[in-house]
Amino acid sequence: MDFTAIDQKISDLENCIATTVPVTADEPLLVGVDLGTAYIVVVVLNGSREPLACAMEFAQVIKDGLVVDYIGATQIVRRLVGQLEERLGRSLEKAAIAVPPGTGEKDCKTHGYVVEGAGLEVVTVLDEPTAANAVLGVRNGVIVDIGGGTTGLSVIEDGQVVYVADEATGGTHLSLVLAGNYRISFEEAEELKKNRERQGEILSVVRPVIQKMASIVKRHIEGRDISAIYLVGGTCCLKDMEKVMEKETGIPVYKPANPFLVTPMGIAMNC
Ligand code: ATP
Repeated sequence: MDFTAIDQKISDLENCIATTVPVTADEPLLVGVDLGTAYIVVVVLNGSREPLACAMEFAQVIKDGLVVDYIGATQIVRRLVGQLEERLGRSLEKAAIAVPPGTGEKDCKTHGYVVEGAGLEVVTVLDEPTAANAVLGVRNGVIVDIGGGTTGLSVIEDGQVVYVADEATGGTHLSLVLAGNYRISFEEAEELKKNRERQGEILSVVRPVIQKMASIVKRHIEGRDISAIYLVGGTCCLKDMEKVMEKETGIPVYKPANPFLVTPMGIAMNC
């Protein structure tokens, strides 16, 4: 799969995070809110679905896809939306959100209340791997979204989602293993994990956790004719984790240059 166009879009979105330069846009905007275990991300796209603005914050207000700190989550979304509204010089009104596959109706509603509590009308609720596929455009294969708390997967056949699953085991587990191994705090482990120069060494420490993620994928796709695995989610930024996944599953694994912002972008595309 050629990721050139996708990588360019995600790179444009990434560039939006660092800047506070005002942006002008008169057309209706597409807004996506990703309430994650590790990060809350709000993405704004223009009418042509191109990145316009993006704001994010590290937060621990969601656990395994469930809202555990409603007020904290609402405050963060409100803050991020406020920053973006200031940049855009206009108010944001509607948003799409996504939840891990298999999230119950009640928990989906709670996600929605968080975003509505921050002043946005929720117009679409979708599952995370399906959101990612709005960006990837996979026709056949399995999209695996490994975030902070969970490994979610979505099997796609002829462009349609035919199976979804989500299990606890994500980047947080990698950080806990690193914290124990190096005798450092969780926060230090989170930072260490993102240090590309040390990711070779890190991979050998966290390999068993990645093998567990691969075994989750393997179990859920058993008996299906899967020709490709596509990795998204922040945890997949880890260098060479696709190689471990490929070795464990025996299926070709593909990942974009920056798998982190694929799902947030796909959420906004569905607004
Ligand atoms: P979930 O989807 O499980 O609810 P989330 O939406 O917060 O969680 P993401 O934002 O996709 O998940 O990913 C967050 C995880 O990715 C965190 O564990 C974070 O430490 C990890 N992560 C982010 N950047 C990198 C990086 N460069 N290298 C390794 N891990 C990273």
